[in-house]
Amino acid sequence: MVDAGMDVARLNFSHGNAEEHADTARRVREAAGRAGRAVAIMQDLPGPKMRIGPLEDDIVELKPGDHVTFMCAENGVGTAKRMSVGRPELCAAMSAGDVMYLADGAVRLRVTSVDHSAAELVADVEIGGSVASRQGLNVPGPLEQIASVPEEDLKHMAAGEKIGVDMVALSFVRSPRDIELVREHTRLPLIAKIEKPQAVDRAEEIIRAADCVMVARGDLGIELAIERVPIVQKNLLALAGRFARPSITATQMLDSMVSSSRPTRAEVADVANAILDGTDAVMLSQETAIGNYPVESVAMMASIAESTEPHAIYSYWNESRVHRDARDPSYTMAYAACRAALELELDALVIPTLSGRSARLVSAHRPTVPIYALSPGRETVRRCGLMWGVRAASIRRHEVTEELINDACRRVVELGWLKTGQRVGITAGLPSGRPGSTSLLQIQQL
Ligand code: PEP
Repeated sequence: MVDAGMDVARLNFSHGNAEEHADTARRVREAAGRAGRAVAIMQDLPGPKMRIGPLEDDIVELKPGDHVTFMCAENGVGTAKRMSVGRPELCAAMSAGDVMYLADGAVRLRVTSVDHSAAELVADVEIGGSVASRQGLNVPGPLEQIASVPEEDLKHMAAGEKIGVDMVALSFVRSPRDIELVREHTRLPLIAKIEKPQAVDRAEEIIRAADCVMVARGDLGIELAIERVPIVQKNLLALAGRFARPSITATQMLDSMVSSSRPTRAEVADVANAILDGTDAVMLSQETAIGNYPVESVAMMASIAESTEPHAIYSYWNESRVHRDARDPSYTMAYAACRAALELELDALVIPTLSGRSARLVSAHRPTVPIYALSPGRETVRRCGLMWGVRAASIRRHEVTEELINDACRRVVELGWLKTGQRVGITAGLPSGRPGSTSLLQIQQL
C-alpha cells in the first residue's frame, strides 16, 4: 500500500487493541523505510460512538416488527432479542418515539418504551437487515448527556503516544470545546471528524479550533438525511480551504473494491468530485482494513487523483480559496509564492518549515507547481503527507537564513526532485529557526 501511494495510515481505535495497533504501526514504518517514503500514522479515537456488544451468533437477522431489548448498562453477549450497549447514558437520553440505527444506517428501529430503573429500552424494528457483533448504534439527535470525550479516549491517547502516532482524529465532535478539551492532553495535531448535525451547524468554529477536518460521510449519512451529504461535503471542504486546514474526504469511496478488483463508475466519479471540491486527502476504510483488494484500492485512488488533478480550478483557487488574514504575514507570503509560481512560470516552490505551517498555507492556495517541504522535524515531514501537493523530506537545522536557502536548494537536487538550472520560489524566515516567522520569498535558479 505504501508503494501504491498511501501517505497516511489510519489506526481505527474503535477496533482492535493497543498491541495490534502498535504492530500495524511498526509494519507501516518498516514498509515506509523500505520505500524511502514518509508515511504518517493517524490515531482515530472512537469518541462517544455507541456500539452494541458481541452477539451469540456474530450476525443476526432483524425483521420488520421484531422487538429488541437494549440493555443499556450491560456489556455481555447478546442475541437478536436482547443486545447490550454498555452505555447507561443511552437509557437516560431516550424516549418512546425516538429513532435508532444499526448496521451503518441500514436497520432502523423506533423506541417503544424505556425502563429507567432497569436501564433497558425496547425498540421495534422498522427496516430490517443483518446486524453484526460490535456494530455502531447511531442515535441522531442532541444526546447532550453523553460525554463528548469519554475517559476511554484519554486511555487510547496514552496508548497512541506510546506507539508514536503523528496525529489524532476525534470522532463525533459536537463543538469547538470538544477539541479544546483534548488539546489539554496532547500537543499532536487534531483532526475534527464532522459526522453530527451539530458539528455541521458549528462547522466554522470547529474547523478553526482544529488542525485538520475530516468529512466522515459514513456516520454523517446516518445522522443527517443522506441526500444532504454531497452539499455538506462541498461546504465543509470550502470552509477548510478558507481557513487553510487540510481536509480528508472519507468512507465508501471505493466500497465495491472490498470484494471486487474494479470500482464502479459512480465510485470513481465520487473520488474525482471530492478532488474537484478541493479535498486534500481521500481516505479508504474497509477497502484496506478488511477488503480483498487493499493494494489495488490504493493504486486506483492514486490514479484517479492523477487523472483528475490537472482539471482542477487552480487559478481560481489560488486567488480566492484561502481567507488571507491581513494581520498574518505568513498568509501573504504563501499567496505571494503561489502568484510568483504562476506569473514567473517557476518549476516548484521549496518551503523550509519547522512546524509544517508554511507548507500548509502554501498548499491551501493550491499552486500550479509541486511544493517541496523540507523540515528538520521528522514528525513534520510525515504530517506533510496529509497536505495537498506537498512532498516532504528532512533537512539539517540552520540558524542562518542564507545557509538554510542554500542547503534547501542543494537538497531538492540531491533528492532528485529538481535539476540544476531549474527555477524555484523559496520561502524562509528571518531570523531562521523560529516557527511562524516566514517573511522572505526568494526566486532562485538551482
Ligand atoms: C465515518 O463515519 O465516515 C468515519 C470516517 O468514521 P469511522 O470510520 O470511524 O466510523
